[in-house]
Amino acid sequence: MENQHPQVSKRILKKLAEHYAGARTELKYGNNFQLLVAVMLSAQTTDKQVNRVTRGLFKKYKGPADFASLKEEELAREIRGCGLYRTKARNIILAAQRILEVYQGQVPETLEGLLTLPGVGRKTANVVLSTAFDIPALAVDTHVFRVAARLGLARGRTPEETEVLLRQLIPEGDWKHAHHWLIQHGRSLCAARKPRCPRCFLQRDCPEGKRLFPQSPPDGQKEA
Ligand code: SF4
Repeated sequence: MENQHPQVSKRILKKLAEHYAGARTELKYGNNFQLLVAVMLSAQTTDKQVNRVTRGLFKKYKGPADFASLKEEELAREIRGCGLYRTKARNIILAAQRILEVYQGQVPETLEGLLTLPGVGRKTANVVLSTAFDIPALAVDTHVFRVAARLGLARGRTPEETEVLLRQLIPEGDWKHAHHWLIQHGRSLCAARKPRCPRCFLQRDCPEGKRLFPQSPPDGQKEA
């Protein structure tokens, strides 16, 4: 399928911006390292569940020095409410150790630096860059990947391709916001299994919405 006409993409992005104005990360953290840990924990786990786990965790362990000296089993016990907790525990400890050894205890401020940390992929690195350091970055998670494809904004074969396409489409100053708009849309209306197209304010412009619900009521068109 073709990508949207640039004018249509612009209209979609404008509506997303209006609808999800002020959307931001729901993860709770007290410093950059805690943000990094929270984002690492959020893979295959909801932000709410991460916050439940980190509420106690961050009271006991504040920064990389605290995490670097933990035993894997100890940290795994603390974060067992999150998916893949054993792997995450190992990676968080190794990342903390590397930050102490190579980065003087500070979370690196570059994509290249962040990507050298165990367990940190492009999505996590981009979230940290934009949230902690206000550096323009567009993180593509599962919601962003799916919603951008359905709307015809960017149909990459991989999250990396989608990131490149979205960065070409969206002005740099909006990269961080677009990440949150698309996540919020994925959570509230454009769910993976059952998108609520008849209630979606973007249906008029959405190829997938028109395909799935060609006869849907005009809710989505009222706001057009
Ligand atoms: S119309 Fe449906 S598929 Fe398109 S963005 Fe809205 S919810 Fe998603």
